[in-house]
Amino acid sequence: MSTDKKNIKPTIPLKLLVDKKKTRVLAAEATSDFVNVLLSFLTLPLGTVVRVTKNHPGSIGCMDNLYQSIEQLSADKFCTEACKSILLSPRNPRALVCKNLKLNIDDTSNGICFSCNNRYCCRKSHYPCTKCVCGSIANTEKSEESQPLDPEHFVKRTTVCVITDNLQVLPGNPISLVQLLCNLGFSDVDQVEELSVDVGLEEVSKLLKLSLVSKTPLTELFLGKRKLSNISIPVDPRNSPTPSSENKTMPNHTEFRVKLILSKSQNKILSLLVREDFIDFLFNFCTVPLGSVVKLLDLNSGVGCVDNLYRTVKCLDSEWLAISKNEIINAGVLKQYKCKNNPLQIRDAINISNLLDPRGPTGSVDCFGRFMEAPCWFVVSDKLVVTQLSSPSSSISFLKELNVPLNDIEEQEETIGETEALALLKASLTSSSALNNCFKSSINQKLNKRQHMDDI
Ligand SMILES: [Zn+2]
Repeated sequence: MSTDKKNIKPTIPLKLLVDKKKTRVLAAEATSDFVNVLLSFLTLPLGTVVRVTKNHPGSIGCMDNLYQSIEQLSADKFCTEACKSILLSPRNPRALVCKNLKLNIDDTSNGICFSCNNRYCCRKSHYPCTKCVCGSIANTEKSEESQPLDPEHFVKRTTVCVITDNLQVLPGNPISLVQLLCNLGFSDVDQVEELSVDVGLEEVSKLLKLSLVSKTPLTELFLGKRKLSNISIPVDPRNSPTPSSENKTMPNHTEFRVKLILSKSQNKILSLLVREDFIDFLFNFCTVPLGSVVKLLDLNSGVGCVDNLYRTVKCLDSEWLAISKNEIINAGVLKQYKCKNNPLQIRDAINISNLLDPRGPTGSVDCFGRFMEAPCWFVVSDKLVVTQLSSPSSSISFLKELNVPLNDIEEQEETIGETEALALLKASLTSSSALNNCFKSSINQKLNKRQHMDDI
């Protein structure tokens, strides 16, 4: 009997509203278990998103390439072995809430941490083999304790929500439903059918992927239909937040000087030649939660439906939530996993006391700030494949791989400040040609200027 129970995979029931011809899901009525899962998407770091969705169709811009580059770089290129783990299995800042989800697709949100064997020491690490401040190695597995006031869930148990096909989360009441159906052009409830489904872990990871690559994820997930181009679901303007200057911090003056390698004849960027501090910044994308990415991109990430999810959660009445709203939509990154040179203004996640930074060779609870060993040159391809120039032969093989005549290659210096960093973040999530997408206008401007000078 007990073995049978163990074999039963957990599921969450969901009630779908579909049109009579079953061509599209109009909405889903969800209870707190499902709403918690959906809201947890916003707290998942990008590295986790890539890792747990890689077996499902579709690609998230160039993020798969960036993630694979980290996997393929040997551990000795990083300051410590844990640097690689921080990027490949980034810590969810709300891990202790996610571990209570009925369906948790993130195996790193398991409530496990590591401490050293010194009984007078109270430091801990989320990653094994971390050097502790006391001199020993934090390697003893234990469970990470929640603080007395830590919330267990994102929404309260009684929460019911209506979720639209494009992942708007609306209050679960008949008024929301009437407005939604009217907006979709339905005048009669008889045109709508109810369909009950059970959602398991597989469906959750599929939904996460679809939320990033589709405009109609519920229809694709449950009816297996691709988006129809003539269907557009209007966003209720009353649910749009008014632009505000909240959370705006001091201007960030961090900049990188990088070298663009261009093909003159093709008028395009072949690759980027950069130092290790830029790679720290680029790899650091993996640690940023999805919600914080949407926030950085000013609710205009262009990634699937996540802007809708963010926007409507932001508008949800706080009385339904079991946690501060900002802790869901902009959970931030723990200082122990941030990179120091970063033009992006990423919020510090709520501090965890006595947490070690596993990147430092001597053990510290402060931000060590780096991932890659210095000094080193790296090449970043247009599709964000990162390789290290580490041997005398690597420069010549790099030139061979470019596969263009040497006299067609031009180098151009570029400054990457906050504006360019935001453009690169967006391009890495939405384009399969990230560098050209990000720098095209700047390159064209310079080429035009030079053409103009030549004409004079
Ligand atoms: Zn210790």
